[in-house]
Amino acid sequence: MIGAVEAGGTKFICAIGDESGRLCSEERIATTEPPATLAAMLASLQRQSAAHGKITSVGVGAFGPVELDRTSAHFGYILRTPKPGWCMIDLAGTLGREFSCPVGFDTDVNAAAIAEHRWGAARDVDDVIYVTVGTGIGGGALVAGSPVHGLLHPEIGHVLPRRHPADRDFVGVCPFHGDCLEGLASGPAIIARSGASLDQLDPHHPQWDIQADYLGQLCMTLVLTTSPRRIVLGGGVMSQTRLLPKIRERMKHWLHGYVDRAQVLVGLDQFIVSPALGAQAGILGALALGIDAASRPHSACIGAA
Ligand code: ZN
Repeated sequence: MIGAVEAGGTKFICAIGDESGRLCSEERIATTEPPATLAAMLASLQRQSAAHGKITSVGVGAFGPVELDRTSAHFGYILRTPKPGWCMIDLAGTLGREFSCPVGFDTDVNAAAIAEHRWGAARDVDDVIYVTVGTGIGGGALVAGSPVHGLLHPEIGHVLPRRHPADRDFVGVCPFHGDCLEGLASGPAIIARSGASLDQLDPHHPQWDIQADYLGQLCMTLVLTTSPRRIVLGGGVMSQTRLLPKIRERMKHWLHGYVDRAQVLVGLDQFIVSPALGAQAGILGALALGIDAASRPHSACIGAA
């Protein structure tokens, strides 16, 4: 069996599944202090393993920033996160030591991109970006089927959009940059600007156009920098699916015909899409990371005694 953990800032989802991508069971744990949360995570996986079979590898998709460099002594750690108490927490090693098995580790959004590529809305393309718009904004990118790591890993939510004409004065909510994309278009930004979440606002409220414009600018930036063949937009804010057509329209507006490809000129409903796996994308991505870790012969048992 394969263990899977979606490590989020408010909850951990712990699951067990098989190599076909089927989840047998899953449990949710509130994210509190690291020692209690990690202990609950291990207990959950042990419980599910007792019910379904021995865990032979584990995959983890985690909130970040995280260390993805396999040559680093801190591979598999959560790094300097603003989340109190969670700096330099050894997530992958904790799992590797418990189960004496290989651990696949990546960001939560790279994991979601992998799941949508393998089983969801991007099965027919190898260059895909998954963006989540919720409490924060984050994105994972697959280029030629492989997740982008590099210097750290993409932090797509913190790019700088051009200000919407009706949004000149809002200072933004990002503690690092103020009015970066996350500062202007995350769920908390919407509430800080307009006093309500998007679903509580009248369909003619200017917030809808502001939101669509910023996310349209993001999609334009992604097209120009990473050249994806599909962009999957998930997360709580994107559950308002009436945003999608507006975002497509704004991306096309901002590209202004510069990229001469049918996909971004006339085929936009196939280019910017909703996740096919819905809220399961993250945990299925973790399962995919665990499946891949099992088949990687040189993969060390991280932290195994
Ligand atoms: Zn920022």
